[in-house]
Amino acid sequence: MIQDPTTLFRANIAALTPYSTARDEYEGSLGVFLDANENPNENGYNRYPDPRQTELKKKLSKIKGIAPEHIFTGNGSDEAIDLCYRVFCTPSVDNVVAIAPSYGMYTVAAAINDVEVREVLLNEDFSLPVDRLLAAADAHTKLIFICSPNNPTANSFDRTEIVRLIESFDGIVVLDEAYIDFAEQKGFIGDLDKYPNLIVLQTLSKAWGMAGLRFGLALADKRIISMFNRVKYPYNINVAATRLVGELLECDIESQVEEIKHERTRLMEFAQTLKCIKEIYPSDANFVLVRTDNADALYNALLEDGIIVRNRTRMPLCEGCVRITIGTHTENTKLIESLEKYDAQWQQK
Ligand SMILES: *Cc1c(COP(=O)(O)O)cnc(C)c1O
Repeated sequence: MIQDPTTLFRANIAALTPYSTARDEYEGSLGVFLDANENPNENGYNRYPDPRQTELKKKLSKIKGIAPEHIFTGNGSDEAIDLCYRVFCTPSVDNVVAIAPSYGMYTVAAAINDVEVREVLLNEDFSLPVDRLLAAADAHTKLIFICSPNNPTANSFDRTEIVRLIESFDGIVVLDEAYIDFAEQKGFIGDLDKYPNLIVLQTLSKAWGMAGLRFGLALADKRIISMFNRVKYPYNINVAATRLVGELLECDIESQVEEIKHERTRLMEFAQTLKCIKEIYPSDANFVLVRTDNADALYNALLEDGIIVRNRTRMPLCEGCVRITIGTHTENTKLIESLEKYDAQWQQK
């Protein structure tokens, strides 16, 4: 495990002089602002946003139990994923290692940044292949991407195995915790002090119900966060999103998360009664992964009833698999009825 993550920055990034905004130079809030060429007539949106998101970070700091200097706020966690590449990986020189199957943006962002991805299949039981991940890395491997609970397999990886990976790797481990609010085990935010080579990604798009506002977090060593802030667009979060996120963070999502988990159990218990479903994987997320003999047929049958799920049959280790998001009670009832109908037809074949 490396102790100083700044040694891994791309040379041009380490040498960067960032854009300095008018709001960076003068931080007070009272006064006559004639420094940013804004239109002076107040309409609620005529001023540039705070490039540091100071107020929102205070709120997030309380919710997450971590100091604001450890928090990067981005336009979705997709922005944080892209920044991982831009900050650490020299195009066509460096590479990253990532688990497969997993979230598609790790490889898309890599391709855009001209960075090689070495995909390592999960173990057959979807557990974390720590030794094979480490074996896939070489002197040019800057990042290892893992996701727990993982999309689309829905399982959390063993904490001790995640720790072993972090402690054994001489680069940065990026741990995507998009679904952590639905998981039984705790995440790694509380351990960041121990691991200067760990970046935890979280998002407000899932449990917090703000996918439309585009707001994601990276949590890491202050030196990494500080560099993310230098490289990001100065005004990556707009004023409207800042206000709405601030308001919606006051909501108590606990009961919604409990309701979704309750519905998840209901759906999984029902799925066990179906002949067309061969396997239902344990879920620590707000979706379930099921395996059937013919994912395309199941997908199309649901689609005919107006229900759209995610066909994952073409992903590695996922042949025959369909990923189903947990909806409202009423939506899940519709799904159950449609599945029942499909299962009855399936049994006649
Ligand atoms: C949905 C999801 C995200 C969320 O990305 P945003 O850009 O924050 O909406 C991140 N990682 C994984 C694994 C996801 O499934």
